[in-house]
Amino acid sequence: MLTLRRLLIISLFILSWCTAQARVQPTHGFDLFSSQEEVQAGQQAAAQVSQQLPLLPDDDPTTKYVQRLGQRLAEHAPGEKWPYNFHVVNQKEINAFALPGGVIFVNLGTIQAADNESQLAGVLAHEISHVVQRHGTRAASKQMAAQLPLALLGGMMGNSTLSRAAQLGISFGVGSYFLKNSRQAESEADLLGTDIMYDSGFDPHQMAVFFAKLQEQSGKQSAVAQFLSDHPDPGNRAGAVSQEVATLPTKKYQKDSSEFLAVKKQVGGLQPMTADQIAAWQKDRKSVV
Ligand code: ZN
Repeated sequence: MLTLRRLLIISLFILSWCTAQARVQPTHGFDLFSSQEEVQAGQQAAAQVSQQLPLLPDDDPTTKYVQRLGQRLAEHAPGEKWPYNFHVVNQKEINAFALPGGVIFVNLGTIQAADNESQLAGVLAHEISHVVQRHGTRAASKQMAAQLPLALLGGMMGNSTLSRAAQLGISFGVGSYFLKNSRQAESEADLLGTDIMYDSGFDPHQMAVFFAKLQEQSGKQSAVAQFLSDHPDPGNRAGAVSQEVATLPTKKYQKDSSEFLAVKKQVGGLQPMTADQIAAWQKDRKSVV
């Protein structure tokens, strides 16, 4: 009896090990930022973003829902446990971006454009994956090393990478070059995002469906241009997602939650600000200050 139980435990262990092995592992690369500096850089940028973009309040029902959805997905993110935080920007254009260390912003227009909950979960899972891969600080580190030899970087005034980055004019705020992802970064975020969605019970194919929809509409609508410029198509997104899903056991995915349907209904009638309106709003705020 004991042997049988032991056998069962060993089988379960092997099974869970195999399942873990099937997941995409985060890649590592040259990064001058420590984890603590990464979080700090993200928080500094988040404070700027909240001044520069019209955010929905944290207690808004839509924000609260996005926070819950985001946290649920983040629980399945591999690698370091970053302090994830989610915000909704009252902006019409479809976009989402992630700051280093886990602060993620999604435009209201993205929620309006999502046909189902898995598509919205796909956008968030994709952004979480950029955080896991530390794409922002890795790109910034490359730039810092290109601007100055490492020996000089080490000798610059200030002790932290953050102050060195600031001296070189590197930041992660709105429109930062380091939040525009390369095609390689996109592929990595798609694959990690696929696993995160799968593990959270969402249909990963819907992430690729949403990206394809944006690609299709990009010719007709300028509202999607920003998203595709920040998250360029690495090519054959749908194929890559399907290939990754094929490595995982078949699973029944969840249907739209009643919470999602309620949020969709609520945001359907809203008219978020356009990029032009936000630019005028920013100008007004500056003149008041
Ligand atoms: Zn991306």
